[in-house]
Amino acid sequence: MITPWGFEDFDAHEGLHFVWNEECGLKAIIAVHSTHLGPAAGGSRFWHYADAADGLTDALRLSRGMSYKNAMAGLPLGGGKAVIFANEKRTKTPEMLHAFGKAVDDLCGHYVTAEDVGMSVADMIEIRRNTPFVAGLPVEGGDVGGDPGPHTSLGVFLGIKAAVRRALGKDSVSGLHLALQGAGSVATGVAMHAAAEGARLSIADVDAQKAQKLADATGGKVVGTDEILGLEADVLSPCALGAILDEQSISALRVPIVAGGANNQLATPEDGPRVHSRGILYAPDYVINAGGIINVCIEYLRNGDASVVRQKIEGIPDRLQQIWAESAQSGRDPASVADAMAQRLIGRG
Ligand code: NAD
Repeated sequence: MITPWGFEDFDAHEGLHFVWNEECGLKAIIAVHSTHLGPAAGGSRFWHYADAADGLTDALRLSRGMSYKNAMAGLPLGGGKAVIFANEKRTKTPEMLHAFGKAVDDLCGHYVTAEDVGMSVADMIEIRRNTPFVAGLPVEGGDVGGDPGPHTSLGVFLGIKAAVRRALGKDSVSGLHLALQGAGSVATGVAMHAAAEGARLSIADVDAQKAQKLADATGGKVVGTDEILGLEADVLSPCALGAILDEQSISALRVPIVAGGANNQLATPEDGPRVHSRGILYAPDYVINAGGIINVCIEYLRNGDASVVRQKIEGIPDRLQQIWAESAQSGRDPASVADAMAQRLIGRG
């Protein structure tokens, strides 16, 4: 890929918008990767980055991931993402959110925002004051909306079951050991579904209290954050942050399946083939974690109810099966197969 700006992760993004408001301290990047299939949709991440380059890398990678995710979920949406640079104390004020809403509005609907890590439904309400190009708002009456997290969790859980069926020949996760990285919104839903079906859980989070709370709710066990990736289990489900699968961590994996909700789990493009060559079944992240954006899309376009959302989320295992089948046939790793499919869908194949 030619990178005219010298940014390693630049992938012919249609637009990169740098936002700075000195008065309220808002510093953000809105990355529009593709609008080939519709408005570029993807959440806003509120995060403390060590430096601006790290935030830019996140915006570039996450927005491309959204193009791929929305395309593979069959949604009439392109891909975009925003990162809001938090200070060390993670101070977030209504003024910052209003200024961010104005920045989103200035893009005239090319970018539609929603929640991501560090952002809540309440934050979306503040952003909504200055722009209509926002989803993930509270559910009103019988409408679709609200926190996308539980929908993401459901899709991830159904994807885990599909992986278990393919790799282990089992129709249920009952009695299986699930190693869960993270105890946040997505991880909590995955853990609750898995525990309800009788799975045994090991849970790790940098926030030990959160991990303990989730373990208590699911009869699981808390393990150290440095242990979770090398734990012997049936499924590793990364549901925290990205870039956790690299040469070192992949060589230490002791699971037959990696299937989780975190975005951008593979640190580099070489890591997909690495996982595959270890004989581990990998569920491409942006395919398995599309449940939230499916809900956001139907909320934003107002073209369905909760049963339509559910039906579309239930399509996630089929897409994974399609990817794994093509992977088995071609010998290519599932991540590369999914990328090629997504690129064709957004007119870049
Ligand atoms: P969240 O902020 O609710 O939870 C993330 C959790 O990860 C936090 O509890 C945090 O303490 C923990 N964490 C951070 N670093 C960790 C580490 N090194 N080891 C263990 N735990 C660590 O966020 P979320 O909404 O649950 O999102 C989790 C992941 O799923 C993110 O990668 C996000 O981009 C992705 N995702 C979320 C959604 C959604 O609907 N919320 C949709 C698609 C993808």
